[in-house]
Amino acid sequence: MEYRRLGRSGLQVSALSFGSWVTFGNQVARDTAEACMKVAYDQGVNFFDNAEVYANGKSEEVMGEIIEKMGWARDTFVVSSKVFWGGDKPNQKGLSRKHVVEACHAALRRLRVDYLDLYYCHRPDPNTPIEETVRAMSDLVSQGKVLYWGTSEWSAQEIQAAIGVAREQNLVAPTMEQPQYNMFHRERFEKEYLRLFNESGYGSTIWSPLASGLLTGKYLDGKAPDDSRANLEGMGWLRERLLGEFGQSKNEAIRQLQNVAADLGASLPQLAIAWCLKNPHVSSVILGASRLSQLEDNLGAMDVMPKLDAQAMERVEEILGNKPHIIQW
Ligand code: NDP
Repeated sequence: MEYRRLGRSGLQVSALSFGSWVTFGNQVARDTAEACMKVAYDQGVNFFDNAEVYANGKSEEVMGEIIEKMGWARDTFVVSSKVFWGGDKPNQKGLSRKHVVEACHAALRRLRVDYLDLYYCHRPDPNTPIEETVRAMSDLVSQGKVLYWGTSEWSAQEIQAAIGVAREQNLVAPTMEQPQYNMFHRERFEKEYLRLFNESGYGSTIWSPLASGLLTGKYLDGKAPDDSRANLEGMGWLRERLLGEFGQSKNEAIRQLQNVAADLGASLPQLAIAWCLKNPHVSSVILGASRLSQLEDNLGAMDVMPKLDAQAMERVEEILGNKPHIIQW
């Protein structure tokens, strides 16, 4: 495993981490969750990602039980939560001081830890003044309940505003983003966030490196495999994305990428994950898996990364044809 500093912070996170969206407390049995976390940890994964909204808190409960059962020393792993969607009642969602603090306490209880290493604002909240959210997050850090706080899917402008408020008011600033980043979703990460990475030293833990499974080739025949997330109740929106116009428009590229992967002696998921790892602004790629064999396949991306030389990267770039345009002069 390789470890990368989370932006300019001193914290080291494994280049591959493991998350529980869709899976823990929902798609997968507890035994599978435990087997995956154990294999991940044994292979050097030190960061486990979670959120209050995942399976309405059940995902954190499952992860907390496993962490306790494994008995891992607290200084050998990093665990996160995210606040935004905690329930339907008015003060159960958003980024008000009340919800930010209560969601943190609830996550600590469910995850069975004394502090969260990373705590993210899961989305921006236009209904709460940015000062209120920054101060609430900063206070949690001062109280020792959170070590680092960050944002997820905020625009660069919103993040700069939060950093600005923190500087002006001598509060703790956010230090990392959790954005979607994969071969089919690049613009924001590679272009909009450039200044954040280069000038503010922002770190990144990126999500859906396989575009929810599209970059495995499993949707190429126009059907969702019975055991895939696209077939789960409540995931109709994702099914539509994977099998509809968006998914279909990627099929030719996926077929060509399968050839590149084969030439490198890799699986397509390994190629797609290794490609994310090649971006030096990525601190950690968060993997998702609904069974152990997927996780084992995906962890193999570490060995594929060195094979992705300039020539192979160029071949991928030609297939994708979506490199964000950045003016160089
Ligand atoms: P991916 O895009 O990698 O999708 C993972 C899913 O793809 C698996 O659950 C599995 O689904 C399928 N899959 C994975 N590996 C393989 C393989 N080798 N062969 C075949 N199928 C495979 O990542 P996620 O979308 O799960 O995101 C990763 C993590 O990022 C989440 O767990 C969460 O922690 C975080 N996240 C954060 C978000 C945010 O807003 N901050 C949003 C989304 C995710 P299946 O078997 O069902 O087909």
